[in-house]
Amino acid sequence: MPWRNEILKQHGQRKADNLWRNLRGIESSPGRTIDVDGKSLLNFCSNNYLSLASHPEVIAAAQAATQKYGASTTASHLIVGHTEIHQQLEEKIASFVGAEKAILFSTGYMANLAVPTTFLGRRDLLVQDRLNHASIIDAAKMSDAKLRRYHHADAAAAGAILESSESDDAGAAKRKMLVTDGVFSMDGDLAPLDALHQSCNDHGAVLVVDDAHGFGVVGPSARGSLSSFDLEPSGNTLMLGTLSKAVGSFGAFVAGDAVYIDTLIQQARPFIYTTALPSSAAAASLTAIGLFESEPWRREKLNENIQHFRKLADVAGIALTDSQTPIQPIVVGDSAAALTASSQLKELGIMAIAIRPPTVPVGQARIRVTLMTDHTEADIQQLVTALANALAPSS
Ligand SMILES: *Cc1c(COP(=O)(O)O)cnc(C)c1O
Repeated sequence: MPWRNEILKQHGQRKADNLWRNLRGIESSPGRTIDVDGKSLLNFCSNNYLSLASHPEVIAAAQAATQKYGASTTASHLIVGHTEIHQQLEEKIASFVGAEKAILFSTGYMANLAVPTTFLGRRDLLVQDRLNHASIIDAAKMSDAKLRRYHHADAAAAGAILESSESDDAGAAKRKMLVTDGVFSMDGDLAPLDALHQSCNDHGAVLVVDDAHGFGVVGPSARGSLSSFDLEPSGNTLMLGTLSKAVGSFGAFVAGDAVYIDTLIQQARPFIYTTALPSSAAAASLTAIGLFESEPWRREKLNENIQHFRKLADVAGIALTDSQTPIQPIVVGDSAAALTASSQLKELGIMAIAIRPPTVPVGQARIRVTLMTDHTEADIQQLVTALANALAPSS
């Protein structure tokens, strides 16, 4: 078959370009340390920001739910997959983020596919930040809306696109939606949500904030990026979050006014045509979100760790971005250099993965460090010393 050879050739090219990706069989939970290839390494690359994935109460909740509801829901939400635990979790999320209603999805990827494809059609406009998560880019391909992307975090450019769509020669857009990451997944910076929110209001657009990395971490009570601008998922603003990062479980949600959430229940294909997430995941999420409130020290400790890392990195002369979130990238540039740094870090007892194109733009390969509550000051010192070694120009 000729295309087999073609694919093999592409594999060869990927390897030559240092873009080949490998799976690892991880041998432990994604905690402060992680077991890989028979070695225990300090873990600086999971999204378990609040160290809740292995919290005894979270595990106990998942176990109890498995006992009562079984290992799988075996049906979609609208058949018999939606248990009372899913119901409670939706209500808990809505009240926590200050929304009228929330809907669960099996993953954040699917939630992101659902929103534009449900609400937008052929004469509509979808506006996106250039650095949005891949799932939102894919959503644009699946929806029939016209896609326009603006330079990263440039609210003025976003506003100009929304405005020009009102007097487009080809006919004004009927519906407009602007989607942005709240916290950018590979950079850790916050979207300018105050300005974007204003623009969307001015131009009758719906604002969708993908807060996969902000929920549980950012804002005065960890309610997410919107809350750090004193905004809520209400009116024409929708918030999307995942339950697999700070929550330490699995699944995702969209929260907002009931009129939008009800439409998703009726029409969103990535909601309707898939099995509801396991009750164990819903129960773990419910307990973990309770811990956001009852153990605020987790977030305080995480923030101390972020500040501590930034201080030590500064002293060591390691160039950081201005991210104030647990995502702390060190941009290396070249994919080969990022891979070499990552394997040197591994030798020094540190797990921190090289992120390469197309996940980040060409020429911006990086080591993406993520911090968590359970890291100690000594762990962070070890990380910075190792980074200084791994990033030093080779002699
Ligand atoms: C991780 C992530 C997602 C996907 O969420 P999953 O629940 O893992 O599918 C969506 N958006 C952003 C910004 C993310 O970082």
